[in-house]
Amino acid sequence: MSAKTAPDHHARYYTNLDEDYRNFVGGKFVETASDKIAVTNPATGALLGLIPDSSAADVDAAVRAARSAQPGWEKTPAIQRAKHLQAIAAKLRERRTDLADLIVREQGKIRSLAQIEVDFTADYIDYMAEWSRRLEGEVLTSDRPNETILLLRKPIGVVAGILAWNFPFFLIARKMAPALITGNTIVIKPSEETPLNAFAFAELVAQTDLPAGVFNLVGGRGTVCGEALISHPDIDLITFTGSVKTGSHIMQVAGRNLTRVNLELGGKAPTIVLADADLDLAAKAIYDSRIINTGQVCNCTERVYVQHAVHDALVEKLKTLFEATRYGDPSTDSEVDMGPLINQAGLDKVKAAVELARKDGATIVCGGRIAELGQGYHYEPTIITGGRAEMNIMRQEIFGPVLPIQSVDSLDEAIALANDSEYGLTSAIFTQDLNAALKASRELQFGETYINRESFEAMQGFHAGRRHSGIGGADGKHGLYEFTETHVVYIQGR
Ligand code: NAD
Repeated sequence: MSAKTAPDHHARYYTNLDEDYRNFVGGKFVETASDKIAVTNPATGALLGLIPDSSAADVDAAVRAARSAQPGWEKTPAIQRAKHLQAIAAKLRERRTDLADLIVREQGKIRSLAQIEVDFTADYIDYMAEWSRRLEGEVLTSDRPNETILLLRKPIGVVAGILAWNFPFFLIARKMAPALITGNTIVIKPSEETPLNAFAFAELVAQTDLPAGVFNLVGGRGTVCGEALISHPDIDLITFTGSVKTGSHIMQVAGRNLTRVNLELGGKAPTIVLADADLDLAAKAIYDSRIINTGQVCNCTERVYVQHAVHDALVEKLKTLFEATRYGDPSTDSEVDMGPLINQAGLDKVKAAVELARKDGATIVCGGRIAELGQGYHYEPTIITGGRAEMNIMRQEIFGPVLPIQSVDSLDEAIALANDSEYGLTSAIFTQDLNAALKASRELQFGETYINRESFEAMQGFHAGRRHSGIGGADGKHGLYEFTETHVVYIQGR
């Protein structure tokens, strides 16, 4: 879209970029000949800023900058690379309040969660920096006399990081920190829905002495800028967070150049509640994990399987929590528990999913409507019971504040229903029976299982989906090594 109006300067937090935000390429903010994309507040529709709608030529310039910086960055000792990352984390902390405000306006997240996102992002960068003295290769046993075999871990080269909009600031770090500490350089493309926080990030990077070209940022649409990145022959790894549809497309395009992919995709996380569960704990954790970020979180409870005996009691507790949810515009009201959905398409999708569930014979316990606040993409917190395995609401990712519930006989039935899914990202179970918890962790076919707790991952874990939820993973040692490749050296002595 070409924006016709100038941005509201009161909404700008970073002011040294003149009129518009510009791509960050080779250590400089650069002009592009492209049109602009308007970025708006999903709670109000107010224009927040303009970003470049980068062309293939703009993307090529960023990839070239990253390529030319990569050999020097790889030669820089890891401990020095870590100091650069720590300097960026320190800059983020200096601006932590402004950055959180920007995320609230741009993404519609509530203030407290936006602050957690900024602080977690700085901590994540520091965590990845700490690996600098712990990156290890291996010495392998040879079949020959006097031979030493070394397995070296090396950077892959130039990484493209393509981001979703739901945790836009954290996702920058999830891509750039492991990429940089292992000696890669990177080109980041944020979502066109939430790019301003990434331009703010680049501005803070520019205030450090990170060598030019190590971190680059291009704004633009998926269909032009994103497409140019994923089809670029000089990209060595595409690390992507977003929808299954785009992830599948990326894999096909990457196949032409045999570019590596790391895909973090959608989910339909099941939560199992057994009759012996602490129901207050289960209800609160399910509520938190469905309402947080307005239900727009890849790993949070998207369907519940509860044993008959406690079905009504659990639904009652959840109803109390859902009905007490305050929602509205988080950019003007810091008391709200929930903001808007990201855009009209997101709202339409949630509305259609609930309407279909109603037609399929499910019961709407509370909510079930667009929230009429006069502006913004708000949907009422909604509980749906009477779910059945074949219903769309139990199978497709909703990505909104809607919780479908199905009553089950047994743990075996719940596990079978949970596993019968195109997705395989996260799962959860509430029970006080150790054997039931262990059985679930053996038999659930998911990248993560949360037992008696809310569904959020730790930075030292490994966030990885099975089936259509992705390929490869992020975080911790295993996520770090996704940004390396091995080189085996055979040294024959005498
Ligand atoms: P999306 O796939 O629409 O967009 C993601 C990114 O891909 C955007 O930057 C977009 O511009 C870009 N893109 C779109 N078309 C492209 C193309 N042809 N070539 C290259 N890039 C292209 O996803 P979204 O709506 O931003 O994100 C929501 C989805 O992300 C949900 O399904 C959610 O579950 C998933 N998600 C997954 C994780 C995880 O860790 N597994 C985390 C957050 C979000």
